Amino acid sequence: MLENVLEVGQQPEALIVYASLGKAARDWPAYRAIHDALQKLEETETLVIQSGKPVAILPTPATSPLVVIATNNMVGRYATPEVFYERMAAGQTIWGGLTAGAWQYIGSQGVLQGIYEVFRAAARDPAGRLHGELRRRFILTSGLGGMGSAQPVAIRMTGAVGLIVEVDRERVRARLAAGVVDEAVDTVEEALRAVRRAQEGSRGWAVALRGNAAEVYPELVRRGVTPDLVTDLTAAHDARYGYVPAGLEISEWVEMRDREPDRVIDRARTSMAAQLRAMRAMQAAGAVVFENGNNLRVQAQSTGVTDAFEIPGFVERYIRPLFCRGIGPFRWVALSGDRADADRLDALASSLFPERPEVASWLELARRHMPVEGLPARSCWLGHGERSRLALAVNQLVAQGELSAPVLFSRDHLDAAGMTHPFIGTERMRDGSDAVADWPLLDAMLLCSTGADLVAVHAGGGGYSGLMQSAGVSLVADGSPSAAQRLRAALDADTGLGVVRYAEAGYELAATTAAETGIRRIIPQ
Ligand code: NAD
Repeated sequence: MLENVLEVGQQPEALIVYASLGKAARDWPAYRAIHDALQKLEETETLVIQSGKPVAILPTPATSPLVVIATNNMVGRYATPEVFYERMAAGQTIWGGLTAGAWQYIGSQGVLQGIYEVFRAAARDPAGRLHGELRRRFILTSGLGGMGSAQPVAIRMTGAVGLIVEVDRERVRARLAAGVVDEAVDTVEEALRAVRRAQEGSRGWAVALRGNAAEVYPELVRRGVTPDLVTDLTAAHDARYGYVPAGLEISEWVEMRDREPDRVIDRARTSMAAQLRAMRAMQAAGAVVFENGNNLRVQAQSTGVTDAFEIPGFVERYIRPLFCRGIGPFRWVALSGDRADADRLDALASSLFPERPEVASWLELARRHMPVEGLPARSCWLGHGERSRLALAVNQLVAQGELSAPVLFSRDHLDAAGMTHPFIGTERMRDGSDAVADWPLLDAMLLCSTGADLVAVHAGGGGYSGLMQSAGVSLVADGSPSAAQRLRAALDADTGLGVVRYAEAGYELAATTAAETGIRRIIPQ
């Protein structure tokens, strides 16, 4: 998985996997030392990784994690972007992303189903005019990076027509060559023509526009264009390294961000404010507009856009009911690299949840639309009890030799128990507990005590500094009875704690889920 995150990552030569600076390891010596340690590690040992650097192999019981990781965790007052950049420059920390530094990233597919479900839920938003129908509708978004490039695929899956603004010519070229977007244009005029043409057709279509979102969005407002649905996935969370300010060429920006970081940050935030104001104007004109978890609203607010939070966040608006049921972005990886194994896993997962036919429908769509990146993997939103049911069935197949190698199970950190982020996962919690970070920490402890193979605790870097705490987990189904025990315990503890987190915050759906699935809550009277 360490090798795989680089294979499917954005800038492997710099160890950068996604989200602007999200890294797999501190530096190349650290990477090589991790690689070496993983080759030699015994079952009765645990490899300890501190912010992307291996620091020790310690003796532990055989059921303990093989790897524990803590990345960029700072005590409160020091968890600022300034301290992060300073410590990063000193070679002492990294931004591990959510899944980059925990070796769980599976390419843009990791967020694909999340984006697809969010688009579909946004189409049902009573604030809009879509009434649940996305076919031929116009979706405006931006960013074709590690995560952003899942957007055109999700758009095509819904049958909508997408315009995706991307500032980097090379990225546009690469996504076009890979078939991730259907066509690429250079001007707003051409883009609008392409969108109109595609709207007359009968299938989903994705147009990439080479341009800066801070210029294109306001230009669309000036022309009176109101898309049906509007969002953004530039790496806006990082004002220094993630968002290209309007009026700068990429090469100028790259040079300037180290020479004049404060100026770059100022210009990027001013540009983000312009983009966000345009999004507000589109919202006022009837578009459904939401932030997709990249901190754009926080950045715009910091430059004085006082109504930035009139735009809702995607989790609070569309995803929370799923988290209340423990349903979140689960994933598996066929470690053999063999397509036949991947097909067998898809078939098994499709047959296992007849009570939720949307699971099989999703898998069918994903098979049709998602190219294989690196090791064959599948992201699939499953809930409490469902993940362990699938994992145990897979472990059985491995034991019987029906799969040619073990299978890895993991998830995004943005999950019910796995994340505290007051502007993403835990925005506007019913009881106001948005910033309480005990839950991902409890989660990580439970995952260690239930014998998960890899457990990671990450905190935010760049513009996410001081705003995020998350926990991640990986488990390998190798067909052994020990794996079966640990898979069941760890996966159920993970989702069980997630359901409890939402029940504690006052969500009735979570309380009902807990009662129906036998989670033993304690409610002091
Ligand atoms: P990335 O750095 O790989 O890609 C960002 C892209 O935005 C790049 O291609 C860049 O050229 C482009 N860009 C930058 N400034 C631009 C501008 N002004 N106009 C147009 N394009 C511009 O990042 P990523 O991995 O794709 O992540 C994007 C964001 O999504 C990050 O903030 C990340 O933290 C967030 N994220 C969201 C979720 C989710 O579940 N919704 C999950 C993970 C990450």
